[in-house]
Amino acid sequence: MIPPKRKNPLLRTRAALQPPAARSRTALGITAAAARGGFALQVCAACQAVQYPPREICGTCLHDGLAWRAVPPEGTLIAATTIRVTADPYFRERTPWRTGMVAMDAGPAVIAHLPAGVAQGDRVRLAQKLDRAGQGAMVALPLAQPGDLLDDPMMREMTCDPKDRRVLVTDGRHAVGQDVARAMLAAGARVWLGVAETWRPFAAVEGAETIELDLTDADSVHRCAASHGGRLEIVVNTGLHTRPGGILERGDLTTARVEMEAAYFGPMRLAQAIGPALRARAADGTHPACAWVNVLSVYALANLPSWGAYSASQSAALSLSQALRADLRPIRVVNALIGPLDDEWHQAVPPPKLAPAALASAIVKALRDGVEEVAVGDVAQDILARFRDDPKILERELAS
Ligand SMILES: [Zn+2]
Repeated sequence: MIPPKRKNPLLRTRAALQPPAARSRTALGITAAAARGGFALQVCAACQAVQYPPREICGTCLHDGLAWRAVPPEGTLIAATTIRVTADPYFRERTPWRTGMVAMDAGPAVIAHLPAGVAQGDRVRLAQKLDRAGQGAMVALPLAQPGDLLDDPMMREMTCDPKDRRVLVTDGRHAVGQDVARAMLAAGARVWLGVAETWRPFAAVEGAETIELDLTDADSVHRCAASHGGRLEIVVNTGLHTRPGGILERGDLTTARVEMEAAYFGPMRLAQAIGPALRARAADGTHPACAWVNVLSVYALANLPSWGAYSASQSAALSLSQALRADLRPIRVVNALIGPLDDEWHQAVPPPKLAPAALASAIVKALRDGVEEVAVGDVAQDILARFRDDPKILERELAS
């Protein structure tokens, strides 16, 4: 137990404000690319001109066929400035703030946020990052990234690096929760690892503090919220109750109810108990609360009938996650989509299977990259690509 952090009462407390969030439907293309960790701009189908800012028709030839495509993100910083006075409440609490104009090799000139160290005339690589309002924003990064780039105040606003943050991992009884705890510790976080029914034997993780937490038990969740809810900066919900079986062969609802408790009601209970405190601390101190991570089966997107009831519980969890993304803002909700894990419940499933340690590394990377969706492992990436291609075709493929 660490003592409560004492604030200097004379210092101004930063409110959990958000940067301006209004975007046109067209401009949300940048948000979508940032959420997935890509870099995309509109490209004209007729003259191939790269467009920025996003628009309805080509700025060169007036053609209306503009598609979002990955384009080379390099360019030259032709102007840089430091904003010290602004009327915007969010940026007012964060001045001085650097911005600049980048002449992209691909054509357009782009206004971008700047970390310390990049100077006028430098070659830079543009990145699309989600800001605290959950909207896409342009950031210009040095080509050779310094090791402490993520410590830059601007990058801290755009990403969720676990370093120096306090993390709750919900299920220390599963290998995934244990490996996520180890990965968070290695990333410089302080970790509380939830374990249900601590009177039963469990494998402790060295360096992590075990706390009693059972998401299916309202009393347990409220005890955890009372003791730790005001001190968390990242929550990783690793609760997995994975059981095979189609709808008809199970014969009753017993297992399905347990699956819904683990995947849907449990995380909802935790969100209701600690979400308001987490959200209120989104601008607190130098390492504010920043992220809520869910581990979800990729079959949340399209049902795998041989694991039919489990897939349905994961769809409920995915929908809950989308609702939380709006409710918890400016806390970032990150979904790690997975295929079959290399665990005891998937012994009969042929490879490729996902190692829990690989999932844990991918979660840390997703937080550092600042994305809100990541497919981890070959199966999840394949299913996600096929889902984006055509959900109806994927449904038929999974059913056969
Ligand atoms: Zn054109």
